[in-house]
Amino acid sequence: MRDLLHMRPFSPPLAGGHWWALAICWYPQCWRGLRQSGDTKIKIHEYQAKEILAKYGVAVPRGEMANTLEEANTVARKLFAEGASGVVVKAQIHAGGRGKGGGVKVARTREDAELHAKNILGMTLVTHQTGPQGQKVQRLLIEETAAIDRELYLGIVLDRATGKLVFMASQAGGMEIEEVAAKTPEAIFKETIDPAVGFGAWQARKLAFALGLHPTQINAAVAFLQSLYKAFIETDASLVEINPFITTKDGKLFALDAKITFDDNALFRHPAIKALRDTAEEDPLEVEASKYALNYIKLDGSIACMVNGAGLAMATMDIIQYAGGSPANFLDVGGGATQEQIEHAFEILLSDANVKAIFINIFGGILRVDRLATGVVAAARNLNVQVPIVLRLEGTNVEEGRKILAESGLNFRVGATMKDAAELVVAAAASVGA
Ligand code: GDP
Ligand code: MN
Repeated sequence: MRDLLHMRPFSPPLAGGHWWALAICWYPQCWRGLRQSGDTKIKIHEYQAKEILAKYGVAVPRGEMANTLEEANTVARKLFAEGASGVVVKAQIHAGGRGKGGGVKVARTREDAELHAKNILGMTLVTHQTGPQGQKVQRLLIEETAAIDRELYLGIVLDRATGKLVFMASQAGGMEIEEVAAKTPEAIFKETIDPAVGFGAWQARKLAFALGLHPTQINAAVAFLQSLYKAFIETDASLVEINPFITTKDGKLFALDAKITFDDNALFRHPAIKALRDTAEEDPLEVEASKYALNYIKLDGSIACMVNGAGLAMATMDIIQYAGGSPANFLDVGGGATQEQIEHAFEILLSDANVKAIFINIFGGILRVDRLATGVVAAARNLNVQVPIVLRLEGTNVEEGRKILAESGLNFRVGATMKDAAELVVAAAASVGA
C-alpha cells in the first residue's frame, strides 16, 4: 500500500544491493512489508474499522459482527426485520481480497444468509494477501446490502519521501488498487496534505469532482472525505483505505469496506484501539516475541539471526544473503537485553522448524559482550540447543565474552569478521540440510 506512492517498473529483490534498505524505512516491521503487500502496523478488522469511522460521521452500512452461526442468524433476522432487502455475509480476517476468495456473499433471504454464514465461518480463506496457507475465518460481519451504483476508491497514507499525508481517490474502486497504480497510475488522483494547514475543503472538493460525482453529491462527499481525514488524524492511523467507497442507486455515499492500520508508536495514547488487537490473526511466534519486548519478524529462510539494533539486523540479513544463505527471521534483542530475554529469544528462534543454524551478531555497547555470552551459554545449556551457533562479537568486554564461550565446553563457532561469520553460518546451515 505504501509502495503505491513510489511504484517502480520492477520490484526490488529481497537479496542484493543496499539501496532498498535505505528506500524502505529501516524500522523492523517494514520487513513484513517486503513479504506481503499491505501495511505493517497494528491491524484491526473491517467491522472494528467501521465502528471507529462511524464515530467520526463516516457513513457505513448497518450491521454487526458475529462469532457464531447463531449470532450470524440473529443479526440477519434483525436486519431483514428492519427492512433490509438483502444482507451481505463478510469474512473478518486481517487481509483484503476476500471477495475474490469467496469470503463475501450476498443473500436475499434469511435461509441463504445462514447458508453463507455456515460456509464462510471456519473456512480457510486464501487471498492474494494471506499467502498460500490462507487464514481461518473466526468472525463474520453481517450487513445490510447496498444497491451499488458505482465503486470508487479512497485512501489516506503517509508519503515517506515528502513526510506528508496523501489523500488518494480513484474511480477504479472495488479492485486491487496496487494493480491500478501499476497499470494506470493516472487513474489515481492525489492531494498532498500540508501538516500545518490540514486537509482543506478545497482539496476534498477537487477529489470529489475528480471522482466524477454528481453535483448534488459533492457536499456530502466533501463531508465524507473530511470525516475520514479527521478519523485518521485523531486515531494516529498509518493508513485508512475505503475500497470500495460506493454511491448507491439513490445517490447516497457509503464506506462498503474499511481498512485502518495504526502507528504503533502512538498506541499508548489510544488504549481502546490497543485493545482491538486480535492476536489470533497474527503469527504466533511474533505474538510470543512481543510479550518479551523482542522485535521479531518471521521470514522464510533457514538461518536464524539474533542481533542488537535494527540497523545491524538489516546489515546481518544482507550479509547472509551475500554469503548465499537466507535469513529465517529478523530479531533485535535491543540494547539492554537481559539473560531472560536472550533465553526467550532462543526459544522463539528454535520454535521455527525451518531454522538450521543460528547467527548471533552483537556489537556490545550498552549490552556488554560478556553478559551476552553468559546469556547465550546458559540458554544453549538450558534449552539443549542442537543446531550450530555462529557468533560475531565486537565491542565492550569482547575478550571476556570470547573467553566465556571458549570455556563453556559447548560447540560455538566464532567468526573473525562479520563476513567470516556469515560464511561460517551459511556453510553450517548447508551441512545440516544435506
Ligand atoms: P475485499 O474483497 O476483502 O476487499 O472485500 P470488500 O468488502 O471490498 O468486498 C468485495 C466486493 O464485494 C465489493 O467490491 C463489492 O463488489 C462486493 N460487496 C460487498 N458488499 C456488498 C453489498 O452490500 N452489496 C453488493 N451488491 N455487493 C457487495
Ligand atoms: Mn475491499
